[in-house]
Amino acid sequence: MSLRYDWTIEELEKLYHLPFFELLSHAHLIHVQHHQVGEIQVCNLISIKTGGCPEDCKYCAQSSRYQTSVSAQPMMQYDEVLNEAKKAIARGATRICLGAAWREVRDSKQFDDVLYMVKGITALGAEVCCTLGMLKDHQAKRLKDAGLYAYNHNLDSSEKFYKTIITTRTYQDRLNTLDIVEKTGISVCCGGILGMGEDTLDRLELLLTLSQRNPHPESVPINRLTQVPGTPLENQPHISPWEMIRIIAVARIVLPKVMLRLSCGRIEMSYEEQALCFFAGANSIFMGEKLLTVANTSLDKDEKMFQLFGLKKRPAFLREREE
Ligand code: SF4
Repeated sequence: MSLRYDWTIEELEKLYHLPFFELLSHAHLIHVQHHQVGEIQVCNLISIKTGGCPEDCKYCAQSSRYQTSVSAQPMMQYDEVLNEAKKAIARGATRICLGAAWREVRDSKQFDDVLYMVKGITALGAEVCCTLGMLKDHQAKRLKDAGLYAYNHNLDSSEKFYKTIITTRTYQDRLNTLDIVEKTGISVCCGGILGMGEDTLDRLELLLTLSQRNPHPESVPINRLTQVPGTPLENQPHISPWEMIRIIAVARIVLPKVMLRLSCGRIEMSYEEQALCFFAGANSIFMGEKLLTVANTSLDKDEKMFQLFGLKKRPAFLREREE
């Protein structure tokens, strides 16, 4: 099936409401056409600058506006970051993500340090992805020149719902940053969070926005909200596994080639739930004790899952080798 950029919300709603097994079969067929079944990319996320963020994202432990257990930390040192990356690569990670709790990139010594980290980790043979907030053309160019493979900048939800979660920047700001990243030739990683109080239509509108981007993003992380004490969303109810699986399936159908990554919130998912997500088209997970500031599934449990399902870890830069 060729890629489409003209999906409509009606089509996405129709897919979402298909009988469960019909939806799953449809998504799985698309998955098989574009990916190696059972091949999962392992990512590792290193929080190189934690806490003290001026933004007001209502789900985030790192916003300085909320009283959470996370306090502002100094930036990690180069050697520390490289050591963490080496350990993750030894465990099978082929994508290392570096996250900084910044509103935007500033031309500074700290940004220079990030560029060295990108160079150092790329030289280890991993895809490097950064998530540093908004950035300008020349900063994207410097990241690209340092060897950056991907840049993460999530849209989180629909434009309508986004406004109720974040007020310190707009959806359009996010889209502008995505355009800068794409124009620079860095691959785009952009996804969302489920369970912030949005409805199904908001989730589908997010997928619609992603599916209408040409080219589609290379990577789409799907997070399930972790209710962080002290944030405005601390008492938000959990979403059901069925909602999660259905969204993954629709994402796979409308974004056939993207890497669909199970990200935050996986710690609460059973093996059975994850198995259905992989069948529906998810093909990447984040491994490591923590995901930024929240707990992640233990390494032992994940290794056991790889054995139980007979999963294989995906090599780095596979897309380039296939093209
Ligand atoms: S999600 Fe990112 S931008 Fe928003 S408060 Fe957290 S660290 Fe800051």
